[in-house]
Formats: sequence, C-alpha cells, structure tokens
Amino acid sequence: MRENLKMNEHQEKECIYRDIIIVGSGPAGLSAALYAARADLNPMVLTGSTLHGQASTTDIIENYPGFPDGVGGMELGQLFQKQAERFGAEVVIDQATSIHLGPQRYCIETYGKHYEAKTMIITTGATSRKLEVPGEKEFVGRGVSYCGTCDGWFFKDKDIVVVGGGDSALEEGLFLTRFAKSVTIIHRRDELRAGAILQNRAFNHPKISFIWDTIVTEIQGQQGVTGVTLKNVKSQESIFHPTDGVFVFIGHTPNTELFNDQLELDEEGYILINKFMETSVEGVFAAGEVADPIFRQVITSAGMGAAAAIQATRYLESLDEI
Ligand code: NAP
Repeated sequence: MRENLKMNEHQEKECIYRDIIIVGSGPAGLSAALYAARADLNPMVLTGSTLHGQASTTDIIENYPGFPDGVGGMELGQLFQKQAERFGAEVVIDQATSIHLGPQRYCIETYGKHYEAKTMIITTGATSRKLEVPGEKEFVGRGVSYCGTCDGWFFKDKDIVVVGGGDSALEEGLFLTRFAKSVTIIHRRDELRAGAILQNRAFNHPKISFIWDTIVTEIQGQQGVTGVTLKNVKSQESIFHPTDGVFVFIGHTPNTELFNDQLELDEEGYILINKFMETSVEGVFAAGEVADPIFRQVITSAGMGAAAAIQATRYLESLDEI
C-alpha cells in the first residue's frame, strides 16, 4: 500500500527538462536569465520564496546606475524580469525542496514538480541573520521584523529600535522615520560600519538617536513587544528599554542549505566559486550574494549573474562539441 502511494506520487510529478535552470530570482538570477535568454537558451528561473530577492524589499535603491533619481526595489525587480522575459526567459513561481548535483545531470525537486537541467546557475541569495535571543522567535510578526519596507506601516507614531550598525540598519532606520515617532539605533560598537552618506543622514535626523556599545539580550512583551533588555558590553550593565518594535539588520546568512555536502562552501557557508563563477561541481555556476560575502550590492550581483550565464553558455557549447 505504502509503495503504491509512493509510486503514484512520483508518477504524478510533472518532469520538466531545460538546458539551463537558474535557481533564484534576485538581481543575479534575473541578470543571468537575461544573458542566457539572449543566447537563445530559453532559461527557466525558479523564483524561490522571495520573488525578485531581498533587493525587492528595499524601499529605494539609489546606487544602481541608470536611475539618477533612485528606483524602488520592487520596481527594479519587475523591470529585471520584464527584460529577461522579453528575450524568452521563463520565470516560474516555484521553490526547490531538494537539489541533486549528479555528474552532468542536475535535478531539482519542488513540491509538485521535478526539473532537470544540463547546467544550473545558483542565485539563491541570503537571509537576514537572527539575533538568537529569547523572545525573538516568539514575537516575529508581533513587533519583531527584518524588513522596514514590509512592516514599517504598522509602527505609525510608535517608538521602535533598530539593531545593527551597517548600511541596512541606517537605510532602514531612516526609512522607518516616515512612520515611527522615534527610532533608536542600537549598535554593539561605538563606531558604525555604514557608509558616510547614510551616517550623516542618520546623525542629522531629528527622530533618530543611538545607543552605543550595546547588545539586545532579550525581547519582552505580551500580545506584542513592550521592550528589550539591553546590555552594555563595556560596563556589563543591563537595562530595560521600552519599545513597541524591534527591527533587526545585522547582516545575512547565505541560502546554501540545499547544497551542503554537494558543493564546496567557505566557513560561513558561502558557495566557493572561481573567477569563471564555477562551483566545485562541473556545469554548476553560482552568482550573487550566495557566493559573495564581500560586495553584496545589486550591481555586483547583477554583474555576477551575467558572467555566470556567459560561462554557462560556453559550458553548453562544450557539451555539444563532445
Ligand atoms: P553588514 O554590513 O554585515 O552589517 C551588519 C551590522 O550588524 C554590523 O554593524 C555588525 O556589527 C552588526 N552585527 C552583526 N551581528 C550582530 C549581532 N549578533 N548582534 C548585534 N549586531 C550585530 O550588513 P548589512 O548592513 O545588511 O549590509 C550588507 C551589505 O549590503 C553590505 O555590503 C552593505 O554595504 C550593503 N548594503 C548597501 C546599501 C547601500 O549601499 N545603500 C544598503 C544596504 C546594504 P559590527 O559592525 O560590529 O560588525
């Protein structure tokens, strides 16, 4: 009985074959799709759970060339997709649940389908790093957030804290001033990592203040967040700081769990690639933040995606020559 069920499940799964499949739909994935489509390869893009990737959750992107007045993250994602589709890329809303990188045969399972490709470009991006403190998990969606653009509206006239000292923390903190009564940025050092332009804007903003040398050790609340326990890392003193919301921007973790034990990763879990965007498995390429712990910009991800597609095209040509 069990065997029959399994067989039926397997037989019912639709099988889809493509020369090239791109896993992930952020700037790297859609740029790879554009280049592969223009090489007449009819690439398929599996979007993953975040259509257009993390960049699409950014309110405004001011450093992508060609948009002197800035462009909305969501709008830029839509434009990337439209341009790739114009040349024949197929963007499919589906999410890989497992991937098998066999020799010259790359298989992707999703909940309903089975995909196979001759070459694959991995652009699965990264996910917001968590604080890993008591209360964080419990209050996600009830005061704890990792996306100002998505959740800022819920904090109209509220007092909120932003955790982190990088570009994301400041950019999102500045965005959140549109809604919040006050934004307190909590940073574990006494010096910000963020770039000078964002620092100047934040220091001069009347709604923004800073708490330095401090970490969050607990998030407290009842129905929603009511405050955070803060610890000064120099004096070791702890205090309760009342707040209605906690926005966490402390970096990212690469989305490589599907490739553990199949691809070589660095110690932080990023896919190791060479200058040709090649991973440790022949015919499998990677681009964007999943393989880039250093630059992590929309423009660098897009460039990596284009390079990966050019190299994947060459790889397919080399297979034809055999
Ligand atoms: P990031 O640059 O890695 O900064 C992470 C921040 O979080 C750092 O200040 C770090 O402190 C802090 N942090 C890390 N772990 C922590 C923990 N467990 N508890 C408390 N604080 C912690 O990450 P990001 O700001 O998300 O930026 C990622 C990349 O995207 C960067 O390359 C950035 O330049 C880029 N980006 C650019 C823009 C833009 O150009 N407009 C906007 C957003 C992001 P330390 O400083 O002490 O390490």
